Amino acid sequence: MAISIHPAVNRGVKKTVVKNFAGGTLTCKCAKDPVTVSVMSQSAHNHVCGCTKCWKPKGALFSQVAVVPRAALKVTANEQKLQVVDPSATIQRYACKECGVHMYGRIENQKHPFYGLDFIHTELSKQKGWSPPTFAAFVSSIIESGFKPGKMKEVRKRLKELKLPPYDCLSPVLMDAIATHVAKAAGKLK
Ligand SMILES: [Zn+2]
Ligand SMILES: [Zn+2]
Repeated sequence: MAISIHPAVNRGVKKTVVKNFAGGTLTCKCAKDPVTVSVMSQSAHNHVCGCTKCWKPKGALFSQVAVVPRAALKVTANEQKLQVVDPSATIQRYACKECGVHMYGRIENQKHPFYGLDFIHTELSKQKGWSPPTFAAFVSSIIESGFKPGKMKEVRKRLKELKLPPYDCLSPVLMDAIATHVAKAAGKLK
């Protein structure tokens, strides 16, 4: 049996192309009074992430996470059920107190390269047409959750099969964006 990366990609990455896709509603897993979040934007930089902080569905080795402009995101129901998982983390991840699902992550540090972007899990939406994941980030970090180091070769092979190139940090595009931000802040680049 192939390694379970994430339910959204295990049978191949679905690319549902919807022209001018304008977002949708994220809903937590509570049967009663779910938290809903409206996202009025297409997602960007969707990927699977192996870090220990991102929310992963049960049995998945990776989370699936994308970004959207902060201004496009609004909590539309049961906001009182949300709480920040780790207030000391760079990304404030708002999770439902009852079902544990992370509804969105927000960066409050205005100097952070990703300030202005919120992190979301597009699988929480019924709408089809979100940008599909295109790479795997922080792959080695799954070991921190107890995954056997000896099986990493198999994981990276599976990710390549799924056309999700594995990286042990973020993708080159995003790492370059972060370094550019840092260089500009330090006056090394104009
Ligand atoms: Zn919930
Ligand atoms: Zn992550």
